[in-house]
Amino acid sequence: MGQPIAHNWAAVDTAIDAHRATSIAFLEELVREPSTVGKEAGAQAVVAAELRRLGFKVHELEVPEEIVERPGAGAPQLPYAGRPVVVGEREGSGHSLLVNGHVDVVPPGVAERWGGDPFGPRLVDGWLHGRGAGDMKAGFAMVALAIGALLDAAPEALSGPLSFVSVIEEECTGNGTLAAAAAGVLADAVLLPEPTNLELMLDGIGILWLELTVEGRSAHAHLPQDGANAISLALPLLDALRGLAAQMNPDGGTRNALNLGTFHGGDWQSSVPGIARIGARIGFPPGWTVAEAETRVTEGLDRAVREDPWLRDHPPQVRFNGFRAEGYTLDPNHELVRQLSAAHAEVVGSPPAIADGTATTDARTYLNYFAIPAVSYGPRVRNIHGVDEAVEVDSIVLGARVLTRFFARYFGAER
Ligand SMILES: [Zn+2]
Repeated sequence: MGQPIAHNWAAVDTAIDAHRATSIAFLEELVREPSTVGKEAGAQAVVAAELRRLGFKVHELEVPEEIVERPGAGAPQLPYAGRPVVVGEREGSGHSLLVNGHVDVVPPGVAERWGGDPFGPRLVDGWLHGRGAGDMKAGFAMVALAIGALLDAAPEALSGPLSFVSVIEEECTGNGTLAAAAAGVLADAVLLPEPTNLELMLDGIGILWLELTVEGRSAHAHLPQDGANAISLALPLLDALRGLAAQMNPDGGTRNALNLGTFHGGDWQSSVPGIARIGARIGFPPGWTVAEAETRVTEGLDRAVREDPWLRDHPPQVRFNGFRAEGYTLDPNHELVRQLSAAHAEVVGSPPAIADGTATTDARTYLNYFAIPAVSYGPRVRNIHGVDEAVEVDSIVLGARVLTRFFARYFGAER
């Protein structure tokens, strides 16, 4: 066994400081691209340019519509034409590493409540605000900063094959990552710079999206007996969903959370609403299949339907219209975890905490369907999916320092 290569870490850290402003400018440029579902192309162009600047060979990959037939696929939100996944590749020898990031962001919510334009990056007290700044565009900047600094000060640390995949629809289906993996964009291990507050995230719960359409009958408000109020009819179904959430959390906790995310119904205050639509996200325990979760949901709703004469004759339509994500987990003793922990400890002084995976990430695709280890590790954030989402800029820099040590360990390790 040879001596590990000694890299000049002081020079690497100097290079990180030198590249810091460039990486934050890249992050700001990404935040300015309002890359909600269907509008990812602008952000993907920014990512492609940055990858080229860092010496990656870049190509685009269309998500085939047939992706929906693969195990683990979610229900597509929109047609995939013009919404490519971007892939960057750097050659090298030895064990390969893939970095996976998603450019899609969730909508800003109540935009007026933000301290400024949700898609106008604002730096306040060391925190960069903007939709997607934390989840997860900061992760792109963290990785870019680490790679840029290593190329300057210790290029030999990037000796192995390193690729980067920038995906769409992580927030609703996972189909971008699934398509890339199915097309062979894989490696011996995957790092996802998701916002984990510089902790290691090794697992995720199961997540199902469902849309419930309740059909009533419109009528004038003064003749309620002629109508069937779709909003009123939806209420016991909401109760049924809450009852399901209790089943999904047998310990009484909220780990597998139910979120009532959208509710649309009616168009006039003096008309009986003829239709109501509810969109929900339901967490389900790891170990369950999607089919099991879907059966529980269908049975729970059926019970509520049987108790209402109108609903019995006009059963609501249930559509599983997004995530069909099973839980996943990475062995905490996996070499990938040990290497990343060691790199973190080297920079921070103590090993990283293990984050509680109460959501999902695209790591599940690699772990569940390709038997490839995948770990999430990224900057410190607040208010992700909320108002005034922000990332702590110093944590991007600290995370980049950790990644430089991690890359050197990963590519330098003998196996
Ligand atoms: Zn994310």
